[in-house]
Amino acid sequence: MTDSGHKSLGMYIHIPFCATKCSYCDFPSQAGRMALRAPYVDALTAEIAARGQALGTPVVDTVYIGGGTPSLLQPEQMSRVLAAAHAHFRLSDGCEISCEANPGMLSARFLAALRAGGVNRLSLGAQSADDSLLPMLGRRHSWAQVVQAVHLARQHGFDNINIDLMMGIPGQTPDGWQDTLEAALALAPEHLSCYGLIVEEGTPLADRVAAGALSLPPEEAERAMYDHTLRRLARAGYTQYEVSNFARPGRACLHNLHCWQRADYVGVGAAAHSLVGGDTRLSNPADIDAYLAGYSAQVQRLTAEERRFESVMLGLRTTAGVDLAAFEAMHGLSFQEAYGDSARKSLEQALAVYTPDGFFRLTRRGMDVMNTVLLDFL
Ligand code: SF4
Repeated sequence: MTDSGHKSLGMYIHIPFCATKCSYCDFPSQAGRMALRAPYVDALTAEIAARGQALGTPVVDTVYIGGGTPSLLQPEQMSRVLAAAHAHFRLSDGCEISCEANPGMLSARFLAALRAGGVNRLSLGAQSADDSLLPMLGRRHSWAQVVQAVHLARQHGFDNINIDLMMGIPGQTPDGWQDTLEAALALAPEHLSCYGLIVEEGTPLADRVAAGALSLPPEEAERAMYDHTLRRLARAGYTQYEVSNFARPGRACLHNLHCWQRADYVGVGAAAHSLVGGDTRLSNPADIDAYLAGYSAQVQRLTAEERRFESVMLGLRTTAGVDLAAFEAMHGLSFQEAYGDSARKSLEQALAVYTPDGFFRLTRRGMDVMNTVLLDFL
């Protein structure tokens, strides 16, 4: 429940278009389908209306517009999407409304449309300040365009900006990563997401790595980059609140926190998922054509065990950890009853601790081997 007494609900809006596909990307997005933007916005706004009506125009506390590349919509199209969200859901006072954008394609008109529609948080996919690494990733922008995008966003009143950066890129050194981090800090963003590159099977990047055409930085180098990130961002006044996420005080992404707490959310658009009543997942068709053809969402009922494991998996990603009281309230049995043996094993290996304020969280060592710890909880 929120302070105002309603059950917290989030909203995710998916925009599945990209100009071209980045070499590492396995997100649900398609390149070369720009002609479908108009019918897509028609279908999306119709779905927003239908979902809002079916739920009785509920209060929403966070809205996240992700992709794909939301900034590829025309400003008028984005305005229609935002207007539909306002018309069919009640956006709470102080509702965080985030939108992802590509720094190379961000116009003043698009930013003005976002602001007019109430968007108060902008997330820029920058990845690296080293322009020599960006083409290999398939990114179609330069660092100078990131700088420009941040300045333009500030001029339009955005006071909550995230910059996404990537560690462990082929050819990246710890020194190079430090330069990227310094360049990002010079822009004084309120939030930084520093992700390790994951080479996803089936992507062009994975093929090039497998063929030996590209090699990833050694594990020690990646560890050095991450260690430096933790130290440097702490010194610069950012608090780490999740493995990869860092924020100035009061600027943690509420949408992220909402999802990691397993609160319900409504996902609209191709490939969007929803969590309903804590136990039902709806998955819209990932393919744009299937979405436009009106294929219905797949429904998956989560078992009690799956629901509990999701709470652990999501909670342990955060630096706060699993909230023991919230766990018991959500699942009807205590964390110790559900996971006493697995928790004990992590405690004995100093990978996790119980905190005096009622959380079970990973230690720094535990965070480093999170996947192994989670296997014990499966
Ligand atoms: S812009 Fe984002 S969603 Fe689109 S291809 Fe690149 S990484 Fe994937």
